[in-house]
Amino acid sequence: MDRRRMLQQLNDVPRWDIIIIGGGATGLGAAVDAASRGYKTLLVEQSDFSKGTSSRSTKLVHGGVRYLAQGNIKMVTEALKERGLLLKNAPHVCHKVSFIIPSFHWWQKWYYGIGLILYETLSGKLSLGKTRILSKKATQQLLPAISSKNLGGGVLYQDGQFDDSRLAINLAQTAVEQGATLINYCKLVAFNKTAEHITGVIVEDVLSGKPYFVHGKSVINATGVFTDKIMQMDNAAHQSMVSPSQGVHIVIDAKHFPGRQAMMIPVTDDGRVLFAVPWHGKIVLGTTDTPVDKVVLEPKPLKEEIDFILHHINRYLNAEVRHEDVRSMFAGLRPLIKVRGKKMTAILPRDHTTLVSDSGLVTITGGKWTTYRTMGKHAVDNAAFSAKLKMRPCITESLLIHGYTAGDDNMDPLFSYGSDAAEIYRLIKEQPAMAEKIHEDLPYTKALVVWAVQHEMAMTVEDVLARRTRALFLDAAAAIAAAPLVASLMAKTMNRNEDWITQQVKEFGEIARHYLIQ
Ligand SMILES: Cc1cc2nc3c(=O)[nH]c(=O)nc-3n(C[C@H](O)[C@H](O)[C@H](O)COP(=O)(O)OP(=O)(O)OC[C@H]3O[C@@H](n4cnc5c(N)ncnc54)[C@H](O)[C@@H]3O)c2cc1C
Repeated sequence: MDRRRMLQQLNDVPRWDIIIIGGGATGLGAAVDAASRGYKTLLVEQSDFSKGTSSRSTKLVHGGVRYLAQGNIKMVTEALKERGLLLKNAPHVCHKVSFIIPSFHWWQKWYYGIGLILYETLSGKLSLGKTRILSKKATQQLLPAISSKNLGGGVLYQDGQFDDSRLAINLAQTAVEQGATLINYCKLVAFNKTAEHITGVIVEDVLSGKPYFVHGKSVINATGVFTDKIMQMDNAAHQSMVSPSQGVHIVIDAKHFPGRQAMMIPVTDDGRVLFAVPWHGKIVLGTTDTPVDKVVLEPKPLKEEIDFILHHINRYLNAEVRHEDVRSMFAGLRPLIKVRGKKMTAILPRDHTTLVSDSGLVTITGGKWTTYRTMGKHAVDNAAFSAKLKMRPCITESLLIHGYTAGDDNMDPLFSYGSDAAEIYRLIKEQPAMAEKIHEDLPYTKALVVWAVQHEMAMTVEDVLARRTRALFLDAAAAIAAAPLVASLMAKTMNRNEDWITQQVKEFGEIARHYLIQ
């Protein structure tokens, strides 16, 4: 993926079939869908791909056990199908994990057991394996950190897990391979209209400040929690439709929660669920649900959200996890669809909504990462219909995602790079110094920094440390310590000077300090 070549396309292509605003899960899904149908497709992202909510999920590819309890069978069935497709089409970034719900009352394991058998049944042919009722002893063996006080056993079920930003970059690569043009750090600043109908957009290259006037037959608004801002840009009288809700995660060392299984706490004090999930050698704990008024790209965890997570997890563990054990913390904003009369975001539906405005703008929002493919399909169906494009069938159900590899050697440290791993190993063979780690506490080598710049459109130190690798999310202090080395490696590859290095390290430090617990 070559950003300069992509920018050139903005001048060269006279008129796009579909222009997509937003490079999160939804926009990237739409770009893969549109390009693979043969539509001339452009996607612009104001920051980096998945910089918004799509890098800050719980990392689950799931139907949503909680939504089953709410009776939303249709949504759960659809998401379970998508879970199965993702594990088939992108096995290098999405895999199966066993989850255990511990039970502390005799009825719980039967209650949850029956629900989870239904959950598994709904996944049909794409089932990931059987649900099992566990004895107390088996639960303790599989969850060595669990408190034995009043423990009666548990229920084991299968679900999916992924690396959200790695999947995002792989989707961007897939879209480009299908013929799309994708540009990060490129912001929609205005719509062009003829007779009240959108005929194009004005976008700005954020890195150079240069504006581009781009013509298009249809525009998709896939901007997550920024949906209303874009709709107001189209129509100043637009009434907001998104209720943003913040969710926070903390990351701790695996020694606090050893074993390969994940745990789900089925009811928190605010009636939600809480997960403890092994991820890249650490444990991700979360999440929360806090309604917010202000929409920002870099939301900050609140002290009470961190306390909430620690308080709940400590009820279940035999040794306390303390504030100082937190390696990183991160917050994301859910783009939930407003429902009149309901203020609590925890009870708002997680389905997605598609809207076509009088101007022709197609807006898609809500939903989840797991259902990004169907969201992309619905957005493109609507865009093609409203712009009277020649109807072409969607082919993404069986489209393999960039990096696809049939094997499952997840002991390989480059496993999540899939088919690209061979090229990265070649780079290391040619330059053995590339095998050196960027920091002793991080699992990433210098080769991955160079790879991210050369092949994954990483433009900043933050792109590399937060989303091409997941250093910032795994260990914020180590990521901050690695930043000068990463900046100088990038500068060498991108032909940048000392000032660029200094500026990048400073900018990264300003963002990264909010991932450190105070
Ligand atoms: C705490 C939390 C946990 C979650 N966990 C899970 C989970 O485990 N599994 C799951 O399936 N789902 C999960 N979700 C839901 C999922 O993460 C989101 O539904 C999904 O990421 C939303 O993607 P999106 O593309 O709609 O929005 P975003 O990822 O926010 O993307 C929108 C993009 O639009 C860009 N943009 C905005 N304005 C402009 C402009 N003017 N020009 C250009 N670009 C612009 C933004 O920069 C942003 O990158 C979770 C959500 C949260 C908050």
